[in-house]
Amino acid sequence: MATPLLPHSMRLLERGWLSANNIVFLDDARTASVVDTGYVLHAAQTVALVRHALGGRQLARIVNTHLHSDHCGGNAALQLAFGGAAHCAVTVPAGELRAVNNWDEDALSFRSTGQQAAGFSAAAGMAAGDLLQLGGMPWRVHAAPGHDPHALMLFQHDARLLISGDALWEHGFGVVFPEMVGESGFAATRSTLDAIAALAPAAVIPGHGAVFTDVAAALARARSRLGVFEASPERHARHGLRVLLKFQLLQQPEGVARDDLRAWFCDAELVARAARHFWPNLTLDALFSETLDALFLASAASRRDHLVCNADPA
Ligand SMILES: [Zn+2]
Repeated sequence: MATPLLPHSMRLLERGWLSANNIVFLDDARTASVVDTGYVLHAAQTVALVRHALGGRQLARIVNTHLHSDHCGGNAALQLAFGGAAHCAVTVPAGELRAVNNWDEDALSFRSTGQQAAGFSAAAGMAAGDLLQLGGMPWRVHAAPGHDPHALMLFQHDARLLISGDALWEHGFGVVFPEMVGESGFAATRSTLDAIAALAPAAVIPGHGAVFTDVAAALARARSRLGVFEASPERHARHGLRVLLKFQLLQQPEGVARDDLRAWFCDAELVARAARHFWPNLTLDALFSETLDALFLASAASRRDHLVCNADPA
């Protein structure tokens, strides 16, 4: 079924927070494309959902707005399901093409966040200014640094539609990962929000959540939230730790033992780097307890036999 607000050649497969949304394009009578593919633990579900949306077409292309684990985790399974890399080509941000094709998990974000991914190969890179043909419409590629330095977004000029990835959601935007380790990211986030405002989209198809049309209100919320983070990078880093911890809880809906969660936390390189930068006097154990307590306080997690996630992270 077509998604209201979107052209007939587009389908939004709205997922959750563990898996990013998948945007399916029916390119012609025989072929189709998809933008972003979810998290690896949901790969079988992603293949089934995409296959259903294609109506018998060949999935000829996968495009990733950025290479976080929740956006490209279905690439490998989709490539396999649709005839391999020769028949299903992956396009990634040009700056990450080499890291993907060498499957360099250190250069990609998977190892540092302690998240999972399945290796895939990419046929092409895309960069700001490029034009992609998707669903019979031209989509311009725009830079969207901040959340991720290589992140891109796609804009369809005639319909004024923006595929924003994690640069803008209806209520917020993705963690500004460089800032978690003391590197610059807020200024880029602000200029990305300005770029979105200048494009003046009629509707935004975000990486997580439903399509939204009150873009001005979403931008106002995002700028206000960014202002809070700019005033206190430490507060932003704590938010980032909560998001990462919650992502681990979401992966195990049946619950996770506290010791297992602590082991993940203390092993994740990004956590260790954030800790060294912002809380050099805190042990990782203490930081883990504080982060988990903050999730309990927000009722985002609860103790049963195991720790479980109560709601999606925002
Ligand atoms: Zn992301």
